Amino acid sequence: MKDQRIRAYLDAQKSEHGRPWVLAFPVLYPREVLTALDVNVREVWSDASGGLVTDPGKLQGYLCPTVRGIQAVLGRAQHGASVAIVPHTCDSMQGLGMIARATPEWGVRVITFRHPRGTDRPAARQFLRRELEAFIADLQDALGRTLEPSKLAQAIDLHRKVERALANVLAHRAQLAMSDADLYAVLRSIEWMHPSDLLAELGKIEAQIEPGAPRRPGVGVVMSGMTPEPEGLFETLQDVGAYVAGDDYAAIGRRIPADEGPMDGDPIGAVVERLLLMPPCPTRASDSSRRIARLRQLAQDTGARGVVLHTVKFCEPELFDVPIVRRALEQSGLKVLHLETELEPRVTGQIATRLEAFVEMLGNGRSA
Ligand code: SF4
Repeated sequence: MKDQRIRAYLDAQKSEHGRPWVLAFPVLYPREVLTALDVNVREVWSDASGGLVTDPGKLQGYLCPTVRGIQAVLGRAQHGASVAIVPHTCDSMQGLGMIARATPEWGVRVITFRHPRGTDRPAARQFLRRELEAFIADLQDALGRTLEPSKLAQAIDLHRKVERALANVLAHRAQLAMSDADLYAVLRSIEWMHPSDLLAELGKIEAQIEPGAPRRPGVGVVMSGMTPEPEGLFETLQDVGAYVAGDDYAAIGRRIPADEGPMDGDPIGAVVERLLLMPPCPTRASDSSRRIARLRQLAQDTGARGVVLHTVKFCEPELFDVPIVRRALEQSGLKVLHLETELEPRVTGQIATRLEAFVEMLGNGRSA
């Protein structure tokens, strides 16, 4: 149903505004460039058509369900796109990109975007700029469109407005009389909605913020991971007496740069700067001490009592971070739950039980 709604929106955007859409896979890519080329993006974080994808297809059986799901979407060849953006943020995604390139029946031209690994330094900036220029050249060629610097500057401005609104909504989460399920249904439109429409949707939520309102009842937790799935996750959290106080999901909160970057000058340079300002993410081999500091700050700012490290099965970058992040957060007095899910179609009894036990422990103040 959700898939059909998204497809209807993208079809309408194409017929009414002449905007085709491209597919984009996790995690991070310079979306401002697509907006400047007047192209929509349909991000694919899982196979939203239904059940858990168990068929490894052309992939190794031990790869994460995210790439398996994306492979299933590509395999059905009903995605309606001629271009797929494949960020090289992990080995699994890189492998899928190579397979997609060698599989013409999937009907997409693969355009990659590579990130520098590790910390910000002059070589990383040079690499990122070269990568961005190659990305733009590939997109122009694939789409038959030309990127105008003035359009890119406008697109950056629009994305800044979206990020400001998203940050405002997330910061005032506890003063919003909205369930997490309803809120995230809007927030996840970022995966397919044109930023101007998304800005309007976020504006409607911002209008409901009452800064003086009492904090919502329940135990606040910080969620950190790739994507807020499976379906029913937020309803389950609510049922066990908790809510999402802080968001560090790659699909949502990790899209907001630490600051807005340079406001004038070369727009290509501004995009490079904005990419470097994105919150730490293990898929770009960020220093885990930065992620730990961010999670501590999120918990402190939102009054969250615990952190859920929510990983997808076989997600190596996230799993690599778990022990060190967990230990450091526990040392600072936060309770931590490592929750591993598989992009199941619905929350399972086991997931619900683990969340319930964690929230009970937070409520009781017992140690982990
Ligand atoms: S391994 Fe992790 S980062 Fe890579 S595609 Fe799978 S879920 Fe995403």
